[in-house]
Amino acid sequence: MSKTTRDGRKLRPRTEAVHGGTNRTPFGETSEAMFLTSGYVYETMEAAERRFKNEEPGFVYSRFSNPTVRSFEERMIELEGAEDARATATGMAAVTSAMLCYLKAGDHVLSSRALFGSCRYIVEDLLPRFGVTSTLVDGRDLDAWRNAVQPNTKVLFLETPSNPTLEIIDIKAVAEIAHAAGALLMVDNVFATPVLQRPLELGADVVIYSATKHIDGQGRCLGGIVLAGQQFISDHLANFLRQTGPSLSPFNAWVMLKSLETLDLRVREHARSAEAVSRFLEGHKGTERVFYPGLPSHPQHNLAMSQMDAGGNMVAFEVKGGKAGAFRFANALQVIKISNNLGDAKSLITHPATTTHQRLTPEARAELGIGEGLVRLSVGLEDSGDLIEDLDRALS
Ligand SMILES: *Cc1c(COP(=O)(O)O)cnc(C)c1O
Repeated sequence: MSKTTRDGRKLRPRTEAVHGGTNRTPFGETSEAMFLTSGYVYETMEAAERRFKNEEPGFVYSRFSNPTVRSFEERMIELEGAEDARATATGMAAVTSAMLCYLKAGDHVLSSRALFGSCRYIVEDLLPRFGVTSTLVDGRDLDAWRNAVQPNTKVLFLETPSNPTLEIIDIKAVAEIAHAAGALLMVDNVFATPVLQRPLELGADVVIYSATKHIDGQGRCLGGIVLAGQQFISDHLANFLRQTGPSLSPFNAWVMLKSLETLDLRVREHARSAEAVSRFLEGHKGTERVFYPGLPSHPQHNLAMSQMDAGGNMVAFEVKGGKAGAFRFANALQVIKISNNLGDAKSLITHPATTTHQRLTPEARAELGIGEGLVRLSVGLEDSGDLIEDLDRALS
């Protein structure tokens, strides 16, 4: 819709995150207006007919599109460097829609196995019910990806860094494998955010976010978005969303739109703090192992630093004493709150084995490195000195 500069000059992502997608009303408001409307009125019946036939631009129904939702999509498009995007009600609606709009019975999906619990359900349980077979591989092993490609493989799917053990997958290498097979690479980029990692520049075809996490960043609203090339959106996703209806509320879109203005600042500060916290944890006698891509001790530190600007805000670590030790430690925290959410201004801690990944068998958990003593910490925006003191007190 509206371009940020009158002469169409290309601006840096941080500037687009503040101005991109702004569509001012004749009142000339500084801050973006919120369009809480389900429908739209037309001057004449002829105008309604033209609008429905796509002969003139404009909105017809907020299940299909809405000015506030479109502003959020446009700001994300500028930030990500995508051709187009569609927002959804949640991150899971974004993942599910991206898959279902493109796949059909007889197709095959190849995915990394270290996935957010619900993403793993979609790939492992839901798609096969509709005749789409799937294979899960260790995403760090490029030969495993190559060997698992089948003639009917249509989508490769991955998450990096992964939840919860922060494995890193080489996006560029997997994109090459996907394209050699005539398949699309879809990347769930939630943990890295568009600030720290830009999968489209590395060869991915589709990028998916739960906007619930760092994009909102303050734990208020659910939302999601799929960004891709024009063809994927026009030929597959747009109509799927229009007919099935997992639409983002304009109120939530407005919250997300305004949150993007501070995303860059927040994410870089989150990462600085997470690095300080992980260095502290690594040297503590109460922890067994610390997983943080920004630490040189991370087995894929070099790969992480080659495709990310910083290590992100998520840290996983093993507390001594198994489940009992992890529970005792987390129950003793005072500043850091117990919650399965992440990417919030408030630091949040969770025990994946009994919450987000309890659905998996003990063997599947062991395969992913999710031990009984493992906790996942989403480092917030508090003073890192207070976080370190809180962790130290609870570990001792
Ligand atoms: C939270 C999350 C999702 C799902 O997003 P919702 O907004 O909760 O539906 C998907 N992938 C990852 C990596 C997530 O962290």
